[in-house]
Amino acid sequence: MTGKLGSFAHISELYVSNYLKKPTIKGQSTLIHLLDHLEEDALKTLTKNCGQPTYRAAQLRQWVVASRAGGFDEMSNLPKKFREELTKQTQLWTSQVVKHTQAEDGTEKILLQLADGGQIECVLLRDGHRITICISTQVGCAMGCVFCASGLDGVDRNLTTGEIIEQMLLLQRLLPEDQRLSHIVVMGMGEPLANIDSLLPALDFACSPDGLGIGARRITISTVGLPTAIDKLSEINARYNLAVSLHAPNDELRNEIVPINKNIGIDQILTASDHYFEVSGRQLTFEYVLLYKVNDRPEHARQLAQLLKNRQAMLNVIPYNPVEGLPYKTPSNNAQHDFRRILEDAGITVKFRHRKGDKINAACGQLRRSNSGLVQLEEPEVPESSD
Ligand code: SAH
Repeated sequence: MTGKLGSFAHISELYVSNYLKKPTIKGQSTLIHLLDHLEEDALKTLTKNCGQPTYRAAQLRQWVVASRAGGFDEMSNLPKKFREELTKQTQLWTSQVVKHTQAEDGTEKILLQLADGGQIECVLLRDGHRITICISTQVGCAMGCVFCASGLDGVDRNLTTGEIIEQMLLLQRLLPEDQRLSHIVVMGMGEPLANIDSLLPALDFACSPDGLGIGARRITISTVGLPTAIDKLSEINARYNLAVSLHAPNDELRNEIVPINKNIGIDQILTASDHYFEVSGRQLTFEYVLLYKVNDRPEHARQLAQLLKNRQAMLNVIPYNPVEGLPYKTPSNNAQHDFRRILEDAGITVKFRHRKGDKINAACGQLRRSNSGLVQLEEPEVPESSD
């Protein structure tokens, strides 16, 4: 293993052992997804299998990652023979952009159709120099949070590592050449910790100097709060920021809003989160979607303050972004203000999440469900096929 691989190195075994495995996803082509094989050893094997010297692997990665190529035909310094073999044996992209929307504040959202027909969303958010992407980890979601659009039809399947990386690269292609992605939030569709085995290699790619070169401290994983998976993350890779979606200050209410809580309970989640904080040294974030007349009362704020007061944690309050067909509403500004004041008076660090891209249904799972009122760009700026 070379030092150059940095943090990406420890996952190479996973990549290599997966190499040449035919995709098993129904409806997917039998071609290898190149983005599943970007790690050095796997890419060298692939290059060799295309009849090329292994130094070409680095050139290939350079084209895909740094030069943001849209297809093999653009890779002008690769021999034609190599490009033909790549086209024969592999696919660069496995998804198609079916919708691309842009909000006035610069937020862009794309709806991707995967090879088996499943649809996922990912978002690019601009805030000065900060360019954040929000990515999905599953088609649908099994957690069943009552207010969320992503889980309304349950979960279809986990995304592969390549499909997660594909979102990163497609969103990167929306930027001018001189701009780079700076942050990643894993807050799109799905429960990231239910697909941790595919997610971690993708995040390793994001952090690697050979990949996107984004510091682990600029990457946040948002979870509904699965204690066993949080413990696993503490054990194998505690480099990332962890955001835990709490949404209620007691189990009775949380069981209603986040049904998976019935099998877990807030205590266990806090224990696993505290442990993650000890191991990682990263300040925890707790997320709280504020729902009118459900979890927005002064007593909820007081209970929440009790839960969080001795923790090195930040509370991220998200005023509800209404989902068509669901009965939940956004609390009034006054109610939001009162909620905030109670927590701040109790010494809790509170941030209200600035809502971006409201008009393009930027909340989790909304674009997939909606089919009207969107700004649909005529020509998606991202490739629709592998060549
Ligand atoms: N499964 C992960 C990621 C979900 S999306 C998790 O539960 O954290 C990230 C955050 O957006 C979660 O806190 C989720 O509850 C919240 N969210 C989902 N739909 C929303 C909506 N319509 N309005 C506001 N926040 C929403």
